[in-house]
Amino acid sequence: MFAKQYINGIIDEVMEYYDCIIAGSGPAGLGAAFQLLSCKPDARILILEKAEISSGGLRNDCKMNFTFPVGFPGEYWERGKAEEYLAQVEEFLKPEILEQKQFDVYEKRAARIGVELLRIRQSHLGTDGGIQLIKALVSQLTAKQVEISFGESLITAEEKDHMAVTGKREAHYGALIVAPGRHGFDFLRRFMTELGIPYADNSIDVGIRLETKIEHYPIVKDYYDPKFIFPERTRTFCTNSGSAHVVQERYTTPSGQHYYSVNGHSYSENRPPNGLVNFAVLRSVAFTEPIASGQDYAEYLATLAMLTGGGHPVMQRVGDFRLGKRTTADGLNTDLNDFRPTLSSATPGDISLALPSKFLDSIWKALKLLDTIIPGILHPSTIMYYPEIKLYANKPIFRDYYFMAARDIYLIGDGAGTSRGITGAWASGLRAADGIAARNGWTAA
Ligand SMILES: Cc1cc2nc3c(=O)[nH]c(=O)nc-3n(C[C@H](O)[C@H](O)[C@H](O)COP(=O)(O)OP(=O)(O)OC[C@H]3O[C@@H](n4cnc5c(N)ncnc54)[C@H](O)[C@@H]3O)c2cc1C
Repeated sequence: MFAKQYINGIIDEVMEYYDCIIAGSGPAGLGAAFQLLSCKPDARILILEKAEISSGGLRNDCKMNFTFPVGFPGEYWERGKAEEYLAQVEEFLKPEILEQKQFDVYEKRAARIGVELLRIRQSHLGTDGGIQLIKALVSQLTAKQVEISFGESLITAEEKDHMAVTGKREAHYGALIVAPGRHGFDFLRRFMTELGIPYADNSIDVGIRLETKIEHYPIVKDYYDPKFIFPERTRTFCTNSGSAHVVQERYTTPSGQHYYSVNGHSYSENRPPNGLVNFAVLRSVAFTEPIASGQDYAEYLATLAMLTGGGHPVMQRVGDFRLGKRTTADGLNTDLNDFRPTLSSATPGDISLALPSKFLDSIWKALKLLDTIIPGILHPSTIMYYPEIKLYANKPIFRDYYFMAARDIYLIGDGAGTSRGITGAWASGLRAADGIAARNGWTAA
């Protein structure tokens, strides 16, 4: 949107102006856009999206958790407010909540050995269903005159002038929301440094992803993504079943080294099931002196894993791990191994070569507890993939409750550490938008 001015008798198109520029079209950015529109229907909004398509996290599996505290980091959210926002997310997205069976049975089994099973209201669209949802949301925004510019990245901003600098232009904003997701971790760190936004280091999650036949983890027929909390800050995370696949995401460290982190997703019920289930077991660690950055440490671990895996994640059979020996390609073809690992590019090897005992010991203890609750998960054929690493940006020191980190600049979503999942990210967007609306005196329609 251009403003026009006369300079020396010549009509000049001056810099574009938007009430709000949002960098990132993941759930945090989308949630913010819809909330701004509900407060000010004629708000001029520009969404910048680095990718050529809306590539945010709704595109991956799209299971959504509607129970606090899943996805809501405790340092930023207290139950009351988070639940209010969660209710708004649910009202907007209208998810179909999945039925849970035999919860009490599993819960009791877990409690007997000191493990907690969280009762979480969940929905699941699948990767294909998530793509449909994104398309619908993007067309709703376009119909409301929101400009969405794909293939355009936010590079930096000038706080005093309220100016965003992108790869293609400079534009003025009333408010700037930066929601670049986990992949935007390095970008956000640079952005905060350039703008003098103070930040503290964040905790990291390091772990493995298991893949096995559904008969070895049948709880998923009763509870799609069971959330078990084990001692030593260890937990199950992101369970996928049906047409389920393990995937790898490519990251680049600040020094230019590439590494892959494992993840998982599944398609909707419209795809034929492959009889497999995958989920992560992660341990969280927060660092103190003398480690300057937990993120740098995590990326160092990931590159070490790449070294041992010849540039790829490593996979090891539980049977081999128990015997203290590496897995080989031939070892994956024994009569006990009656499924093909879905991340076929992973290298058969030994995860303990690259996973420090601080993490490995807690994870292995957790798995033994899990095998007591759901006997079968430690079947010799179960595959353990490494690394699965979750980085969260260095925590910005916010100026207000609404995630404002510099004058009229809001940092939200998984990249900024204000969420750890789709619904938390969407809620962060709502909260930032509420802050912008309050500052500008916009009232809800
Ligand atoms: C394989 C996989 C499966 C997952 N499954 C689930 C799940 O089932 N349920 C769940 O709750 N969570 C899941 N997650 C996590 C979920 O995706 C995130 O929690 C969520 O998407 C975070 O939302 P966000 O808006 O903060 O960031 P994102 O969704 O990551 O969106 C950030 C967007 O910003 C863009 N961007 C980055 N930098 C810039 C820039 N400088 N300028 C402009 N645009 C930029 C990116 O291209 C991206 O589209 C999964 C993640 C993966 C990778």
